[in-house]
Amino acid sequence: MSPGIEGGRLGCVRGVVRGVAPGPTLIVVGGLHGNEPAGVEVGALLLARLAAAPPAAGEVVVLAGNPEALAVGRRYLARDLNRQFTPERIAAARTAAAGGVADVEQRAALALADAIAAIVARARGPVFAVDLHTTSADGVPFSIVIGSTATQEFAARFPLPGLVGLEGSCGGTLGQHLGALGCVALAIEGGQHESAAARTNLEAVVTIALAASDLAPHGDDTRAAEAQLTRAGAAHPRLIEVVLRHAVDEARTFRMEPGFANIQRTPQGTLLAREGDVEIRAPFDGLVLLPLYQLQGTDGFYYGRELTPRRA
Ligand SMILES: [Zn+2]
Repeated sequence: MSPGIEGGRLGCVRGVVRGVAPGPTLIVVGGLHGNEPAGVEVGALLLARLAAAPPAAGEVVVLAGNPEALAVGRRYLARDLNRQFTPERIAAARTAAAGGVADVEQRAALALADAIAAIVARARGPVFAVDLHTTSADGVPFSIVIGSTATQEFAARFPLPGLVGLEGSCGGTLGQHLGALGCVALAIEGGQHESAAARTNLEAVVTIALAASDLAPHGDDTRAAEAQLTRAGAAHPRLIEVVLRHAVDEARTFRMEPGFANIQRTPQGTLLAREGDVEIRAPFDGLVLLPLYQLQGTDGFYYGRELTPRRA
């Protein structure tokens, strides 16, 4: 097959660029949450760039996670797509689909699972993936690092704060699904929804991902992208362990205190949120992570501590 773009707008697959020679695969996912269009826009830019200069080897695939929620700008319509990737939920989605009663996110999860299975089956080298997100709070970009040593090595190529241990309190993510298939996968939070900075940061992430997966040389554009992310994430810990998740009921009285960034140091006892009349305070000197400032979602906030990165 000659290099070029195929796939067009078939479901979740926004484009495939396949080189003649064997090589690594990079999967770029955007819009898993429908109120996070920046990742989809960055994916489209990547396809345009690769159309002009396709890789000689390997494959790049751009996926749009939740096209129906993206079309209406909502995080999700029936359920959070980024919690549907457990074997049990995928099986339940298949049963629902067979009976013609699958909801939007069940259909989207199946489309993604099937597309990814096909990509992994035809891969001619290691498979890397970056799942691009944005957050409701303002703040620095960071990566969510799951599992394997190879993933931690891939994460280390991005000059971003990395969160480890999130999978302990947050099951069924696409990143975990990719990891279980043997892919080297990172979820990346680029910054605040709709902000120009988030798009710029996610563009830099994709540029570095091409070099880190050996689909492109480590050139001037990679160095510029590294400088961009270094500026954006300066003064933040490089490695943060997630210690707890404050879950929020859908019919909630939870209210995050205003003004927290998506990674922010907080002394013990800092008032973080209120739930009815109950005050929720920082349990120790640590970091509040991903505070909830949007209507939808069941993660009130996460709380973590700084880790000292191991030196090679
Ligand atoms: Zn998201």
